[in-house]
Amino acid sequence: MTVGDSTSGRVAVIGGGPGGLLAAETLARLGCTVTVFEQMRSVGRKFLLAGRSGLNLTHSEPTRELVARYSPVPAPLSDALAAYDADAVRSWAESLGEDTFVGSSGRVFPRSWRATPLLRAWLRRLDALGVSIITRRRWTGVDEFTEAGQRTLRLHFISPDTGTTDSGTTGVGTTGGDTVEVDAVVLALGGASWPRVGSNGRWTDILGQHSIEVTPLEPSNAAALVNWSPIFVERFHGVPLKNLAVTVAGVTVRGDAVVTRAGLEGTPIYAHSSRIREQCARDGHATLLVDLHPDLTVESLSTRLVRRRPRESTTTWLRRSAGLDPVAVALIREVVGANPDRDPAAMAELIKSVPLTVTGLAGLERAISTAGGVSWSELDEHFMLRKLPGVFVAGEMLDWDAPTGGYLLQATFSTAVAAAMGAYRWVHPDRGVVL
Ligand SMILES: Cc1cc2nc3c(=O)[nH]c(=O)nc-3n(C[C@H](O)[C@H](O)[C@H](O)COP(=O)(O)OP(=O)(O)OC[C@H]3O[C@@H](n4cnc5c(N)ncnc54)[C@H](O)[C@@H]3O)c2cc1C
Repeated sequence: MTVGDSTSGRVAVIGGGPGGLLAAETLARLGCTVTVFEQMRSVGRKFLLAGRSGLNLTHSEPTRELVARYSPVPAPLSDALAAYDADAVRSWAESLGEDTFVGSSGRVFPRSWRATPLLRAWLRRLDALGVSIITRRRWTGVDEFTEAGQRTLRLHFISPDTGTTDSGTTGVGTTGGDTVEVDAVVLALGGASWPRVGSNGRWTDILGQHSIEVTPLEPSNAAALVNWSPIFVERFHGVPLKNLAVTVAGVTVRGDAVVTRAGLEGTPIYAHSSRIREQCARDGHATLLVDLHPDLTVESLSTRLVRRRPRESTTTWLRRSAGLDPVAVALIREVVGANPDRDPAAMAELIKSVPLTVTGLAGLERAISTAGGVSWSELDEHFMLRKLPGVFVAGEMLDWDAPTGGYLLQATFSTAVAAAMGAYRWVHPDRGVVL
């Protein structure tokens, strides 16, 4: 099957997540003939999942600060983030009818809070731009051939339902439907977290066949694993621990966490993913210092705790004097035992720094994002694989890591636009880029 005609530039985008869809939009606006291939039955499944708890599109802080959130952050990534920045993402969402607003923490959300209206409007726009979307097509490999001096990339697909080629279902296959010939391809296959929405990281095997180096894919923004006692889990799983300040390796992050059967999740935990991962690799465990009362000093807490009534239980004392929730009191008991030190000063110190032992990070099945990915040394400044000329890479499959806060989608969008422009320049070296 041949996609489009050579004069406009035949480009395939593989992966129908936000990265792939924005790459397709960018290429279509530049006049290319674009086809998106997605292995699932529909596109944007992780994007919709992200919208379930409030779609955090980007962050409102200045670009220089935003760029500093990424690790690693090589020049092509920082250039891409500056070229298609948070304002560009907000304008794009607004052009799709989704006004955005800045939340109290500086995070940017669509007014509707959700991804569904945005994705619906986006698919209508892609259709109007002439982008074809073919679902239930799993990419399995790429090779190339040259005919009459023209180099063509040949992409191989199977139908994930049957594991075989399946031209009939798409209605576009003319030569068995298992191969597609294009001038350039943008890979936007995602990381490996939440594999049941499609991003399963199996592309590492395909790129491995071309000796392309991939930094191992690991969970990021993942829950911390804690060996809770059965009593604590039964009583408190699902209960929020509000307004914490969590410190790991000298870095403190504030926010709310939630007790789960396996440990703790939430912003101040996710933000420490890389530090937890490093400590666990080094020591076999990590220590979170949990401040249960970040707005009070040790001294003022200590003064409050002095006012203990005769025969008052520890739980009542801590709830009444220090204003701790039952779950916070239980956390203290969980860590230091049923009868913590009754000295007010020692208790104040403990409330400000409960040493919680973490045994690891939850797996990729439930992690918000993936650390690792296609190594930057494999890419040129236009996001093209040096070992596979004409093949560009975008989104979470690249080797960057970032905390939650809108940074994941921001880098996905920025690299998608950069890779699309790279692909356009590749198929039209003689033309300028005007979006
Ligand atoms: C629960 C949750 C909440 C999140 N919330 C936020 C948030 O609020 N803000 C934020 O910034 N980020 C959030 N994220 C992260 C964000 O969703 C991702 O960073 C983003 O979706 C990455 O986009 P992508 O296009 O690179 O990859 P993906 O969205 O993972 O898309 C990749 C696509 O490629 C397809 N694919 C893979 N292999 C093949 C193949 N061989 N052939 C064909 N197709 C293939 C997959 O099926 C998938 O559809 C959240 C993630 C999760 C899990």
